[in-house]
Amino acid sequence: MKACVGVLALQGAFAAHEQALAGLGVETAQVRTPSDLAGVDALVMPGGESTTMSRLLETSGLFDDLKARLSDGMPVFGTCAGMILLATDVLDGRPDQRSFGAIDITVQRNGYGRQVDSFETDIDVAGFATPFHAVFIRAPKVVAVGTGVNVVASHDGVPVLALQGHVMVASFHPELT
Ligand code: GLN
Repeated sequence: MKACVGVLALQGAFAAHEQALAGLGVETAQVRTPSDLAGVDALVMPGGESTTMSRLLETSGLFDDLKARLSDGMPVFGTCAGMILLATDVLDGRPDQRSFGAIDITVQRNGYGRQVDSFETDIDVAGFATPFHAVFIRAPKVVAVGTGVNVVASHDGVPVLALQGHVMVASFHPELT
């Protein structure tokens, strides 16, 4: 059976992820409810606003089910706000904002500062033959990584793409490029 990749569609840049996955011939489904989540084999958590997504995860009833699927080993890829939601520690978050602690990293929200709110750059990704063009939009900055985390790409010495087991996170927006 063909795997179905869910795209968390509560808020933010989910449409671009669906298009990028569809372009790769991957079957996708929007995830807004616990029953949507039950029907997918993997999940993409897009960029957007992590504070809003945290709130919508709770009001939709998805938070606890997603936490359980993450503990069960469901493959997940979080970009930008999605990275913030998957991190163990979040700096400069709103006090009521929650995260799943699925990857052992500390991220600082909007950590690249105001002047460079958004920027584009080429990064070297381990295993890629050519540089990857990465778009950063009010991106979180990874300020600490645990020993179990594999850093797959860095920019100016700061991890921007990282993997731990079934959890992968990017501080940039690969779906745009
Ligand atoms: N700054 C946003 C947040 O804190 C993330 C930005 C993005 O996802 N492009 O959630």
